[in-house]
Amino acid sequence: MKYVAIAAALSLGISSVALAQGKDWTFGDGETPEAWGAINAQYASCDIGKMQSPIDLTDPDAIGTLKLTTNFGEASGKLSLGEEKVQIDFDPGQNKGMMSGAKAFNLLQVHFHTPAEHAVNGQRYPMTAHFVHATSAGELGVLGVFFTEGDENDAIEELLDAHAQGNGTALSIDIDDMLPETIEVYRYMGSLTTPPCSEGVNWHVANVPVEASADQIAKLRGALGPTARSIQDRNGRLLVAPE
Ligand SMILES: [Zn+2]
Repeated sequence: MKYVAIAAALSLGISSVALAQGKDWTFGDGETPEAWGAINAQYASCDIGKMQSPIDLTDPDAIGTLKLTTNFGEASGKLSLGEEKVQIDFDPGQNKGMMSGAKAFNLLQVHFHTPAEHAVNGQRYPMTAHFVHATSAGELGVLGVFFTEGDENDAIEELLDAHAQGNGTALSIDIDDMLPETIEVYRYMGSLTTPPCSEGVNWHVANVPVEASADQIAKLRGALGPTARSIQDRNGRLLVAPE
């Protein structure tokens, strides 16, 4: 397990290098299998992995009592833009992160997808934020939050203001504006949803969406385009739902 986690972290590093050199894959329509392994042999896990993400968060096996706590609040970072990518890389040393049971995950970056990648009973929300974390040993943990149309979201407004200024813009946002008031999560073991689709990712997906205005979501959709991977088979994996 530890070996898998370290391999995942190393793969993530390789992925960052690949992105910097121009990426060789794209999202599809969100339903048809992407066959990313046919593009690049390094992406074989995307097609043959048995613990891939996203999944439909339906028919959980168990109800979890394990608590997730976060230490977020105001955080500074830099905007990282690319093809199908809107991301904030948080400045290191801010001690932001989450505790999942006894595991401490340090926050690295947040990025967005339109529509959401995970589904609930086959339905997808119009947008999701993925807060990517790693433990000090390199094990990956992601917190996914769905967005639904409603009131304007202050953090998303800060993000859009920075987006208008372009790649590398420094910004500061209150991360708690992008979280439900009480965080209760689905949990399961999955993968990165983009090549190389490394497995060993501790997925946490909040069961309650947060609001952003229809205009804000439309602007992010305009910047990202369709950026949801197709739903992957659960292959008997344990899915734990919140109480
Ligand atoms: Zn993501």
